[in-house]
Amino acid sequence: MNKPGFFLRTLAVAVVFYSTLVSANTLPRHQAIPGGVAIITLNDVNEARPGVSYLKKKVMVRANDTHWEAIVGIPLSAQPGIHRLKVRNGQDNFHKEFRVVDKDYKTTHITISDESKVSLSEEDLQRHYREKKQITAAINSWSERDNVDASFITPVEGRFSSPFGLKRIYNNQERIRRHTGLDIAAPVGTPIIAPASGTVIRTGDYFFTGNTVFIDHGQGLITLYCHLDKIDVEENQHINQSQKLGEVGMTGRVSGPHLHWAVFLNRFKVDPELFMSQLEKTK
Ligand SMILES: [Zn+2]
Repeated sequence: MNKPGFFLRTLAVAVVFYSTLVSANTLPRHQAIPGGVAIITLNDVNEARPGVSYLKKKVMVRANDTHWEAIVGIPLSAQPGIHRLKVRNGQDNFHKEFRVVDKDYKTTHITISDESKVSLSEEDLQRHYREKKQITAAINSWSERDNVDASFITPVEGRFSSPFGLKRIYNNQERIRRHTGLDIAAPVGTPIIAPASGTVIRTGDYFFTGNTVFIDHGQGLITLYCHLDKIDVEENQHINQSQKLGEVGMTGRVSGPHLHWAVFLNRFKVDPELFMSQLEKTK
């Protein structure tokens, strides 16, 4: 047996293992696409934490080993090309540029048998507008938190049935709607758990999303859980990672039981899969 070879391999494994322990912030992954996340390195952590905004919206800034970094949510409507962050570092104000590249999201046709959930009545439309205001208010929350936990575990065990960003055409209508979350199909009653710690900022029953829970993870990172059969948490409740939020259902506009999971970063909907390790995604 080749002892030195074995020793070196063991050492290499130990070093890799150790480095994954010390470099904590590997998620979300940098993917500067429409609906993606850009991770932009800023100044040294020995200097004061800089203030960053993008498209006039405040952006998450966190320490990663030696440097501050901005964790930027890019809207699905973003045009490919050079985008700019506004950085305030003490007395200094400057721009930091990054490039957004295009992504070719797929198109799918969907049939909803309950026609009243596709072509809305005046009453339903008014209800939807009222609810939209509440939903927007929840998404616009900002809470200071130094170390935001942005490494998510899967909130429900099931099949990823519809990806983020998909272009959807309902009942052969002309309009294209974007799928702005990740769908995980699971039977009614399957437990839904918190992918990371945070605070429940809103719960409600809405026309499109049914029974819904909003979690604020800090610094503009907010997650949304839709179509629940049952909600097990209350507003203002602090929750830990893997704590139960409720159960999978089919309330609101759905074609079958599933969790619609959405992630907001600096108020833009981004791909939840960017916040999960490969291991979590294949669980
Ligand atoms: Zn969905």
